[in-house]
Amino acid sequence: MMKFTTKADVQRQIRIWKKLYKSVALVPTMGALHEGHLSLVRKAQSVAERVVVSIFVNPTQFNNADDLSKYPRTEEADLALLRELGVHAVFTPAVAEIYPGDTQTVVSVPELAAPWEGAGRAGHFEGVATIVSILFHMLTPDVALFGEKDFQQLRIIEQLTTDLHLPVKIIRGELIRDKSGLALSSRNERLSDVGRKTALSLHESLLTIQELYRAGTSDVDTLLAAGTKILADTDGLTTDYLAIVEESTLAPAKELCGNTYRTLVCGYVEDVRLLDNMRL
Ligand code: AMP
Repeated sequence: MMKFTTKADVQRQIRIWKKLYKSVALVPTMGALHEGHLSLVRKAQSVAERVVVSIFVNPTQFNNADDLSKYPRTEEADLALLRELGVHAVFTPAVAEIYPGDTQTVVSVPELAAPWEGAGRAGHFEGVATIVSILFHMLTPDVALFGEKDFQQLRIIEQLTTDLHLPVKIIRGELIRDKSGLALSSRNERLSDVGRKTALSLHESLLTIQELYRAGTSDVDTLLAAGTKILADTDGLTTDYLAIVEESTLAPAKELCGNTYRTLVCGYVEDVRLLDNMRL
């Protein structure tokens, strides 16, 4: 496995692959890798001939300095996991390699970024859209893979790729959970055993809504009330939002007819912000 830290070096390697007509997949991550990331890497290996994983804790998408400083960094373990999977290259740039000096340009996808995660975290999705655009231009992958775990982020990246006519195919990876049902997240490392149990209510609320819907309940308020009750009855969990949205626009569903819908949930456990979602 090759490890690059500079733009010049990684670009040199990608140019070689392109001259050999090898397709290149990019899996962007912030490290602290778990099975959710690894499933994206395996999918990348199945769709492209060369796989690059980037590990970069992007400062511009954190609107809270404390959250940035507490973000887990486990580079040695990450590299071992990727080596074991047979990844061709890892790109681990320093912040100055990506943002040298007075970077000014910001990529914004305003409508999709406004609600849910965007409402409480000013500038978060501009940070995400900008770093993804930078990585796409720097590494020129043929395909890039993103997990449904961060569903709003995934939709924003799909939209910006379409809007800017970027020659990158976006591939979705399914949300991976642990055996108990907890959505895997690098942030779970900050939860105690009790916190992990508390966090399971997020999944339970999504499942309850899905089961009721599939059993014939189609009234949005009734479905949300059932999910809200589970969250409200859980000590140690503070809900930020629970919503049933139309998948492509992320607009709240008024009634469920024809389109594809997804329930999004976000809550805090032990001061850790946790996200989950499930298709209805
Ligand atoms: P992150 O390192 O949190 O920025 O995530 C990097 C990529 O892994 C993003 O595309 C995430 O959506 C994806 N990812 C993170 N957790 C999971 C999960 N539990 N299941 C599937 N994909 C995930």
